[in-house]
Amino acid sequence: MKIGFIGLGNMGAPMAANLAKAGHDVTGFDTAGVSVEGVTKAETAIDAVRGAEAVITMLPNGDILRAVADQIIPHMEKGAVFIDCSTVDVDSARAVADQAEQAGLLAVDAPVSGGIGGAAAGTLTFMAGGSDAAFAKAAPLFEIMGQKAVHCGAAGAGQAAKICNNMILGVTMIATCEAFALADKLGLDRQKMFDVVSTSSGYSWSINAYCPAPGVGPQSPADNGYKPGFAAELMLKDLRLSQQAAESADADTPMGQIATALYEQFVESEDGKGMDFSAMLPRFEKRGRS
Ligand code: NAD
Repeated sequence: MKIGFIGLGNMGAPMAANLAKAGHDVTGFDTAGVSVEGVTKAETAIDAVRGAEAVITMLPNGDILRAVADQIIPHMEKGAVFIDCSTVDVDSARAVADQAEQAGLLAVDAPVSGGIGGAAAGTLTFMAGGSDAAFAKAAPLFEIMGQKAVHCGAAGAGQAAKICNNMILGVTMIATCEAFALADKLGLDRQKMFDVVSTSSGYSWSINAYCPAPGVGPQSPADNGYKPGFAAELMLKDLRLSQQAAESADADTPMGQIATALYEQFVESEDGKGMDFSAMLPRFEKRGRS
């Protein structure tokens, strides 16, 4: 299949590489001029989507997605599928899907979970919103880039699932980091802490798959000086999306609210900018009770 791929960052680059490795004809574009092995480099977003049966976007936020959609939709082939894998607000996802459908395209919002490790290994989980026909057309590509795709409902349903998932992730990462910092102060060896929690009721993806303590558990950004990975700014973006959604749906999410405030402080007033979201652990290490 001829595929256009826009946004070749931490996630997009390995996803595009996996599609190319599987034998698809992939043309990619990124404003940062990124090159990816096996992927033809386009000079513009429009060049990347010309003649493609499927176009995948993996971009930082809803405003950028809307701007890219305005650029590329008029140049896409009728009947092609527009698959947005970025994490964005439900309103942007629905607006872009509407615009694509009005132009005779199929549209799926399909944010992912699994991080850069899952993107590289082709084991992401896709949570998708859109029509049955759009999901069916995108499904073979999800199979290459991931291990599971759940069709969650109509346009925007994928983003709704993602926002709820990442609210849990933000909360569990903070809980894991503060627990490691407490364990340090109690004189507990970090490896022992990992061995216990990763096989006990405190386990979660945050400790088992993405341990925030360097040298402990599987390889993670903590072993690479907390270079992202999944940037603290992106975690903050997702937590804010969860709180906007909670506000508009009148849902009580106190832990989500606290996690949002902590990541806000970390990114905006401390040294979290440019760090992985698991760098909450060195943040807690430096702090005392008051
Ligand atoms: P990233 O910042 O590494 O990549 C985004 C890329 O988009 C960059 O390379 C940037 O140059 C490019 N870009 C920006 N504007 C563009 C434009 N107008 N046209 C073309 N390219 C443009 O971010 P990432 O970590 O790859 O995340 C991408 C999306 O996936 C985000 O929405 C994020 O929330 C989501 N996500 C990330 C992870 C993760 O672990 N990193 C996990 C799940 C979901």
